[in-house]
Amino acid sequence: MTATIIDGKAEAARIRERLREKAQAFQDQIGRPPGLHVILVGEDPASEVYVRNKARAAEAAGFASWVERLPSETTEADLLDRIAARNLDPRVDGILVQLPLPAHITETRIIEAIDPAKDVDGFHPMNAGRLLTGAPGLVPCTPRGCLHLIHMVRSDLSGARALVIGRSNIVGKPMALLLLQAHATVTIAHSRTRDLPALARETDVLVAAVGRAEMVRGDWIKPGAIVIDVGINRLPPTDGEGKGRLVGDVAFAEAAEVAGAITPVPGGVGPMTIAMLLANTLTAAIRRAGLTAEQDLLAI
Ligand code: NAD
Repeated sequence: MTATIIDGKAEAARIRERLREKAQAFQDQIGRPPGLHVILVGEDPASEVYVRNKARAAEAAGFASWVERLPSETTEADLLDRIAARNLDPRVDGILVQLPLPAHITETRIIEAIDPAKDVDGFHPMNAGRLLTGAPGLVPCTPRGCLHLIHMVRSDLSGARALVIGRSNIVGKPMALLLLQAHATVTIAHSRTRDLPALARETDVLVAAVGRAEMVRGDWIKPGAIVIDVGINRLPPTDGEGKGRLVGDVAFAEAAEVAGAITPVPGGVGPMTIAMLLANTLTAAIRRAGLTAEQDLLAI
């Protein structure tokens, strides 16, 4: 193996510790901690795990954290009312509605009901627009985490060619915009892109966000490239029992022979997402409180 392994787990732990200190500094100045309110509708087991992890991480960093668990038959009108109440709640800096929502609730209507200043997922069209135009807003957590990992191994992306595979609103599109803002020359690939391997071979920074186990092969990678693997895929268990292995969208062992730096799955992008959720909550808190030392508190 030649590639540097980018340790997202260790970096996320370091960031969370920094955020704990900054949350304390915020509390000393403002008289209350930053607050994160998470709403979970329904009983999806994966969502339950995500929400629990988010709440635990918030508490460990000294944030105030609330989880509102609602039954799957909750109406859209009821959910909208609850969001409106949290929009007005001065203790709450960040509101996160865990996705996916039950089919009878329209996701876009819910996302658009969250006050953009408290939209710590960064999914509100106002924040998407700010990212597009380069104005300060709240940036989706996973792409923000990916950019941070890229900058750990390469601080200046001027002249770099970047390829983002996947065009979702949550990962692919905001990732591409962040790379563009960082002066990379960016290509977005998706399910209808032709000859993806050829595009990948010209790429200095490759971000895979597809959801297809080990799709990106070692011979797609340009020697020395930075490879960020967002995908989380569970393989079927080899012995037919228990849980199968978790793998990314990149064939890790092959790619690590060629890449300059690569993130593992698990332990790469995943842990950064929660760290960036806390960073976004602190950002929202600092802006809402109108603190002048914003830049100082925001640097992680
Ligand atoms: P999505 O299903 O919304 O989007 C997948 C994208 O991949 C689409 O834009 C599609 O066009 C593209 N695609 C599909 N097949 C393709 C192919 N053969 N070639 C090229 N492109 C193809 O998924 P998402 O929400 O963006 O998530 C992507 C992956 O990242 C999933 O595995 C998800 O579990 C994972 N994820 C991880 C984190 C994390 O914290 N690590 C966060 C979000 C998503």
